[in-house]
Formats: sequence, structure tokens, C-alpha cells
Amino acid sequence: MYPDEPRVGDVMFVEFSPEKELLRAACSWNGKSYRLLSVGDTFAVALPVGLKSKVGARHAMVYWKYTDGGMGKARLPVTVCERDFGVQHLRLSRSQESKYTAEETRREKRLIGAALDRVGAERHWWGRFVMPVEGRISTGFGMQRYINDRLAYRHKGIDIAAPEGTPVRAAASGVVSLADDSFILHGQTVIIDHGHGIATLYIHLSQIQVEEGAWVGQGQVVGRVGVSGVATGPHLHFGVYAYHEAVDPFFWTDLPERGPGE
Ligand SMILES: [Zn+2]
Repeated sequence: MYPDEPRVGDVMFVEFSPEKELLRAACSWNGKSYRLLSVGDTFAVALPVGLKSKVGARHAMVYWKYTDGGMGKARLPVTVCERDFGVQHLRLSRSQESKYTAEETRREKRLIGAALDRVGAERHWWGRFVMPVEGRISTGFGMQRYINDRLAYRHKGIDIAAPEGTPVRAAASGVVSLADDSFILHGQTVIIDHGHGIATLYIHLSQIQVEEGAWVGQGQVVGRVGVSGVATGPHLHFGVYAYHEAVDPFFWTDLPERGPGE
């Protein structure tokens, strides 16, 4: 398992090497069941340690069944470490604020949700992710965000401030599962499905340069930094999701070059 002691916002890589021909294997964690998927000779899953995870001594269970009917299970002790994510206050005009709950945003939330729910059977990510844009981090991952003094939501990605038009690069290889320039809250949005439950999200773009269904390589330009949707200045909001749960993008860009994520 990697890392040994995950923090809230990390991912845990669990690997299983079957002794015989495997029928299926799954891992139960945080009240959900995740299928282990084939990676070379082994089976693996990247479990989200989401923002709502309980901290302290926990465990995950791995269950497997062989084609000959044999079964087994193993208990994986996990110590989840706490993190302080901080607080941010934002001032928005009433018309900007109202877009968070506007009826028209239901469609974009549904489309984004559907893209994040996809779990492609083929894995396209290997090793460390690249930062899609170089720039100052204006809002960190997990911050409690208050809008006009009301608790609004947890910030589920990082905001990278950069001039409008700066190229935005794919953090890892994958298939474009959403490319939509019509959203009023998120602005022009791209989602890349990296397979095995991992997806990246790029929002507030000024321009989209890929089409849905296209395969993109790591570092390939997918669009340009902008201020579309509800944004207070030009920046990229970059999110990484593991099975639809937001995790810290820096976990992925700080992975060892070779090893667990590989
Ligand atoms: Zn953001």
C-alpha cells in the first residue's frame, strides 16, 4: 500500500497479486466497494481518502475469489492523518452568487457528475502528474470557502492564477470525457478520464482545444486559461478526482517518478 499513512485528500494505492487465476477482487473502504482492476500481472485500485474521511486508525478490507471457487480476504490497517485546509472569504455580486444555485446550472452539474462517474477499464495514467499551468496558487485544495459570509462549500481543487490565454496542459494521458463551452457557473470545462476511476477537471477556460472522445497525451494542450463562468480573475481551477471524490492535485504531482502510481 502507498502511502503508509495517507492524509485526508490523498489516495491510497492498494495492490493485489493473486496466486491463481482471479475471478474478481474488491476492496471495501469508507463504506463503499471498489473493484480491483488489472494492471499488468497484478490488480490494483486507487482509493480516495476524501475530504469527509474520518481520521485515525482505520482499515480497508480486500476480498477476492478465484476461478476455481477459492476465496479469501485480508484486512489492511490504515492510519489517516488530519490536515488543516484553512478558510477563505470571497465577495461576489448577487448576480454572480445566484449562479451557484440557478436552475440552468443543474445541467452542467449533472454532466460533470456523469463524467466523473466513469470508470474506464483501461488505465492511462502512470507515475507523476504534471501541473497543467505554472503560476501562483491562489486557493488551495480543501479550503472552506465562504461567499458573502455564508459557508458555501469545500474547494475541491486548486486555483492557479495565470494570464488569460496561457496554455492548459493535460496532467496525465487519458480520454476527453467532457468538453463544453456553454456552462454559466463552471465556465468552459474539460474533463479527462484517465481510467481506473481517476479523472482531472479544468474549468474557467477561455478556449477549449480538444474534442470529447479524443485521446490526449500527458502535457498536451487542452485549452487556455480564462475567466469564464463564476471567477474573480483569470485562473485555472484544476481538480483531480478518484471515483468521483475530490483529492489533492499536489498528491499526484508529488508522486515518486517511478513507483506506486506507475
Ligand atoms: Zn477553484
